[in-house]
Formats: sequence, structure tokens, C-alpha cells
Amino acid sequence: MTNTDFSNMSSPVFRLHNTLSNRIEPVEPLEPGKLRFYSCGPTVYSYAHIGNFRTFLTADLIVRTAREIGLETHYVSNITDVGHLTEDDVADSGGEDRMALALSSKEGKRFANVWDLARFYANELLRDWSRLNMIEPDVRPRATEHIAQQIRTVEALIDSGHAYETDSGVYFSVDAFKDYGRLSGNISGDNLSETTRELVVDDEKRNVRDFALWKKDPKHLMQWYSPWGWGFPGWHLECSVMALEYLGEQIDIHGGGEDLIFPHHECEIAQAESYSGKQFARYWVHTRFLQVEGEKMAKSKGNFLTVHELVSDAASGGRGINPMALRLSLISGHYRKPYNFTFDTLRANLKHIERLEQSLDVARNAPSGTSDVAARITAASERLLAAMLDDLNTPEAIAALLDGIKTILTCKDGISDEDRSAAQQFLSRVDSVLGIINEEGSDSPESSEEDDEFAATIEEMLDRRQRARASRDFALADSIRNEIEEMGVEVMDSPDGAKWKRITSIQGIDAGE
Ligand code: AMP
Ligand code: ZN
Repeated sequence: MTNTDFSNMSSPVFRLHNTLSNRIEPVEPLEPGKLRFYSCGPTVYSYAHIGNFRTFLTADLIVRTAREIGLETHYVSNITDVGHLTEDDVADSGGEDRMALALSSKEGKRFANVWDLARFYANELLRDWSRLNMIEPDVRPRATEHIAQQIRTVEALIDSGHAYETDSGVYFSVDAFKDYGRLSGNISGDNLSETTRELVVDDEKRNVRDFALWKKDPKHLMQWYSPWGWGFPGWHLECSVMALEYLGEQIDIHGGGEDLIFPHHECEIAQAESYSGKQFARYWVHTRFLQVEGEKMAKSKGNFLTVHELVSDAASGGRGINPMALRLSLISGHYRKPYNFTFDTLRANLKHIERLEQSLDVARNAPSGTSDVAARITAASERLLAAMLDDLNTPEAIAALLDGIKTILTCKDGISDEDRSAAQQFLSRVDSVLGIINEEGSDSPESSEEDDEFAATIEEMLDRRQRARASRDFALADSIRNEIEEMGVEVMDSPDGAKWKRITSIQGIDAGE
């Protein structure tokens, strides 16, 4: 999988596998130089697991690689904070509500309600995200903050004859969209039984494959008033609506895990294209699933690994693993091949990260000398980028990384000016493209007098909020929380009290209706 076109560094071509065509294609943004990218985010009913993060990291690598060749990226990734259903991976979504299930679980007991639960896990997601040194999306919209837009889209789809109301909800009519099934290949009803487990029975549905845009349910834990009464939106709807809102009617790349191809992405295409009359996304990128030690992750098997547990320090019940070694492990397999996460690989990557840190030290601090390896270091740097441009070939990029590190370490007793500069450029590329250098450490911000003052103010506000909660004045508690958030701070409630952190670039939080 070497990119043979890559002889000319001045016009690098980024190639990705497109599920739509089943080919590796050059990525040519609709608007030259500007890449519009939407990546499906998590449902926040528990800590995100390392499989979720493997998929989110594919998105992160797409953005980093695109930026490295000078593309301007417009990157949106949502948070699904509406309790969609355990059967939402079937076309018309039946089953139990995930948030409600989580709330009634052992871990859920500490939350006052589903809103509290969703907010807690959304905050934890942001924390894990930054611990893995992942690029913050330009916009991170939340489903619950875009209900009005979703209702308006459903109304438009009814008006244009693509959707209809029944006693149980509003359904998208797949017969009204001729391309339904183009992405996944599920083009007739014949293979429906393979992709569905339990169909919600509604005799009024025109076609068994029609999927829910709005569910009527006045008893649901999260419900909104709509022209069809109390209820909540179908899960597939939020991504179409938020992509349209923040990226426009036509986007370049849309991504997610392989399980999202059908029905989620198929339904997104149907909704967005019926609404706009234009092609929605031109490149669809899907990440194959991660397993742990050769087995599917499952809580019952005890092999369910979260980033939270792996990287939190021992005092907070975690395993204290260096997040950069975890990141390197999660990106080390090619995204289009199933990945087997093992602790052996993680251990090997801890060593690689140590050597990477030593090479940073050599590039900065080694005494001047007469080494002569600049050409080898530059070749490793070019090979690394070429591999990433070649459908994110991370195994090849990591081979180039290790080669570059090894070469730099040969200069530890003396490095020439030319080699030092080549080493610095190489390490800067490793930082920007692979994102495995995080010297600041997101959990240990440097303290200054100003920071201390800020911290004292926040602690005082949290204390006031706690007192308001204790006296059951929830309106006051909420207004203090809002005030804190307006100061650019995320509040994370935990069994040991509220924790907080400063945020710098999370947009979408205020994107209310
Ligand atoms: P969810 O929170 O279930 O909506 O999942 C968030 C993202 O993680 C989606 O893009 C899923 O396709 C992806 N995902 C879920 N499980 C895995 C896994 N084991 N390996 C890789 N990606 C996964
Ligand atoms: Zn989505």
C-alpha cells in the first residue's frame, strides 16, 4: 500500500477508501482547499470505551493529515445526549432506552435523572478526548440542543412527501427516496432479516423498512413537545440536521464505525438528500471494530476497557497508563482492518513513547557534534506523511516513526546543526500528524498566580452551588452552573464532589435553540 504518486512533495494527494464506491480515491474537497468533515460522536450513557476511541482517532488522523498538507478543515463531531434505543441499530428502532437503562444500573444510582447522567458522561468524554491529545472539533453540537431544528426538518420532510405520521410517530418513507440502500448495499427488503432483530410493529407503516424520524412517547424520560405531541427524535435524524446546520448541504467526508453503515448512515443520506435535493457526503470513511485480546469487548467478559480506566491514576481507581502509549496503540492498526488490542502491544508502545521522549531530548539538548544523518531523518519524515496520505496507512507511518527515532538517538553524544534541524522538523511532523507528543499533559496545567485566583473563584461558586443543591434550590444551583460554564469551565459531577476544568475551544455548547 505505498503511495506511488508521492514523488512530488509540492502537490501531495490525500487518498482515502470511500465506502460509497468501495475504492481508494483522492480526496478532492468540493470547495478547493477546504475540507468539510462530519464524524459521528458517542452516545453519552457511560464512559466511552477504547473501541469508540479507535473510531474517533480515525477522524482525528484525517483532520491532522489534511491540515499537514495545507487543507483548511471544518470538523464537526456530535454528542448524542438523547436516550436512543438499544435497538437503534435496526432500521426502525425499537428496544429499551439506553439512558434509562444506564440510570437504573448500579452506576446510574448516583445521578438524579437522565439529564444529569448525560451531562456527567459528556464531560468525561471531553476529558478522555483531551487526555488522548485529540483535536477538538470546530463544533461539537449536542442533540438535545438541536431539537427545534430536528422538528423543522421532520416538518419539511412531511411537506415534501418523504415522511408521514402514524399513531406511533413520524416515519421516513424509503419508497420516496430512490437511492435508499446505495451505501450499504441493502437495496431490497429481501435481506432485511439479516440486519434487523426486532421490528417495531406499526400497521400504519407503509413499508416495513421505513424508519422513525419522531417517536411519540409522552412517558419517555427525555421528551419534547412537537406538532405530533410529546416525544423524541429518531437517532438517525440528529446527525443529518447538525451536519446541515454547521457544514452546509454538501459535505466532503463523513465518518464513523463500521456498524454505522447500516442503518445509521444510510438513513442520514436519505434524510439529508431528500431535504436538500443534493448529494450529502461524497466520501464515507468507516473504521473496523476493535477487539480486546482476540475477543469482542463485553462487560460480562471483564474485558471492557475504557480510556477513563486505563489512563486515570491509581488514586482514582485507574491503571495510570501513559495516554500517549494508549493513543499509539489505538492508532497502530490500519483503520480498515479489525484491530486486536493487547496489553503486550501496549507495553511495547510504552517503550516506543519513552524512546520518542529521549529523541526529543537529543534534538533539544544533545551537545554539538559532527553527526551526518539528516538525509535519513528527512526520508523517515517524508515516508511518514506519505503513508498517512495513502489511506491512513498507520502501520507504515509508525515504522517510519521508529526509524526516525532510532536515527536521532544515534546522535545523543553529538549532533550537527543540520541534523538537529532535521530532527526537530521530523518531531514536529510526528507531533502534528500522529499527535503522540503531549508534553503539557492535559491534566497538569501550569499554575500561576492568575490561575490560582481563577481557581479560587470557581471553587467558591461550586461551593455556593453545592449549598443551593443541599437546600433543594435547584433553580439557583443551575443558574450558578450556567454562570460557571459561561466562564469557560466544564463542571464534572462525581461521587467525590464536583470537579472542573477550563476549556478553550469547545464550540456548540451554547448552540441552543
Ligand atoms: P456509540 O456511542 O455506540 O454511538 O459509538 C460511537 C462510535 O464508536 C461509533 O462510530 C461506533 O461505530 C464506534 N464503535 C463502537 N464500538 C466500536 C468498536 N468495538 N471498535 C471501533 N469502533 C466502535
Ligand atoms: Zn451519526
